[in-house]
Amino acid sequence: MNFESFNLHPQIFAGVRAQSYTTPTPIQVQTIPPGLEGRDILGLAQTGTGKTAAFVLPILQRLMNGPRGRIRALIVAPTRELAEQIHETIVMLGKKTGLRSVTVYGGVGIVPQIRALRGQTEIVIACPGRLLDHIGQGTIDLKAIEVLVLDEADRMFDMGFLPDVRRILRHLPAQRQTMLFSATMPEDIRQLAGEVLNDPVTAEINFEGPPKTVSHALYPVQSARKTDMLMQLLKQTDTESVLIFTRTKHRAKKLADHLHAAGYKSVALQGNMAQNARQAAMNGFRNGIYKIMVATDIAARGIDVSQISHVINYDIPDTADAYTHRIGRTGRAAKTGDAYTLVSQEDAEMVREIERALGTKIERRTVAGFEAISVEMPTSNFNRRPTSRNSSQPSRQQSQRPSSQRGGYQSNYKPAHSPQQPVAAKAESQPAQQAAPRPVAQEKTQPNGSYFTAARKLRQAQRARRRPGSDA
Ligand code: AMP
Repeated sequence: MNFESFNLHPQIFAGVRAQSYTTPTPIQVQTIPPGLEGRDILGLAQTGTGKTAAFVLPILQRLMNGPRGRIRALIVAPTRELAEQIHETIVMLGKKTGLRSVTVYGGVGIVPQIRALRGQTEIVIACPGRLLDHIGQGTIDLKAIEVLVLDEADRMFDMGFLPDVRRILRHLPAQRQTMLFSATMPEDIRQLAGEVLNDPVTAEINFEGPPKTVSHALYPVQSARKTDMLMQLLKQTDTESVLIFTRTKHRAKKLADHLHAAGYKSVALQGNMAQNARQAAMNGFRNGIYKIMVATDIAARGIDVSQISHVINYDIPDTADAYTHRIGRTGRAAKTGDAYTLVSQEDAEMVREIERALGTKIERRTVAGFEAISVEMPTSNFNRRPTSRNSSQPSRQQSQRPSSQRGGYQSNYKPAHSPQQPVAAKAESQPAQQAAPRPVAQEKTQPNGSYFTAARKLRQAQRARRRPGSDA
């Protein structure tokens, strides 16, 4: 399948071409045709899969017809950074369309947002809290909303936004197209999906763990010597852009300052920074002005910088899925990447959990000058796939699945007619959305329940393990 087959409006197709997208990603193959038909979508996919374009393209196509200057599409996202990235995708793909989008989030002045919302815009990308402020003050008109996207719904749940999301829903027209994207499907999100989606098409990118283009390594080190080891690692490694993760905001700032003082072009990205400082950090990292960014998990959510060659976990993440998220920032779009994790004695159990989730043992390495360090790491025996990026062996999940499902995605979508059908016509023929909960996407019956079971286990572990210092 290629982008021509979606029969996008020429002005939208021009944006796709300008981005040099040639082949749609699996989530795009599954969601764009039904999205263009006006169907509700449940997309199980994480950042890095092309999910943003998967909902942006159907939105742009829909908005090409109908009135301009009214807010007709609302995208709700958990973080400001993600909201900005969605906005940028809309600007890039919609460059020739004349459609406009506005971002709405806290931490910055509300007055410019009020002005922007009063002006001529068709798309709003919002974080829940500030959107509710605008709704409360009557500074946003949501009466004309035709499409709602809830992006990274599981992260919104993690961050405690679900009550806000439900409040927002009460202010939206019942008849609309709704698309919900989530990397995992905890019970609360399943329930939310049941409430907001009407006969959705389910697209699922199987939980494959991190990209196979990433090679992983653990570096045992005593906690007190982590910074020394990091400096040595950076000195001896040939890198492009490097993303370093710390557990807390304070540690992110301190480490970025330390690296800066040592002569590295480094910057922090953490929740205590003002929005314009965060934006400047992101832009500087993306443009290559900063070669190293030190970030916390929440601040880094959704970071999309293609030239990240190394992700370094200065602090091990709290969960195996956080590990997957972090290192998914490198090895993108078939490029190779390296994921290094500094591990101390107290991280042994987390190492075991990550290896269990990956289905493989991660190589232990050392750095000159640190050979004598004795950190007891688990010695679980994994005879599955090697960690090497050159591996040709199938992953655990792949080998358990029938060959027809390997490496792909699953969907309940059966095209009713060709995607060439005009969007507006289909939208009008849709039945009115009912308020009552209805059954959603059937739970997948994969052998050993790879996706949902793994996701549920990871979530449970996440709750149990949250460390008090995690203040990202
Ligand atoms: P996302 O998962 O939406 O964060 O997208 C991850 C990255 O993939 C972004 O840099 C997109 O610009 C890029 N991307 C999205 N769709 C495609 C495609 N079909 N071909 C190549 N790159 C893509």
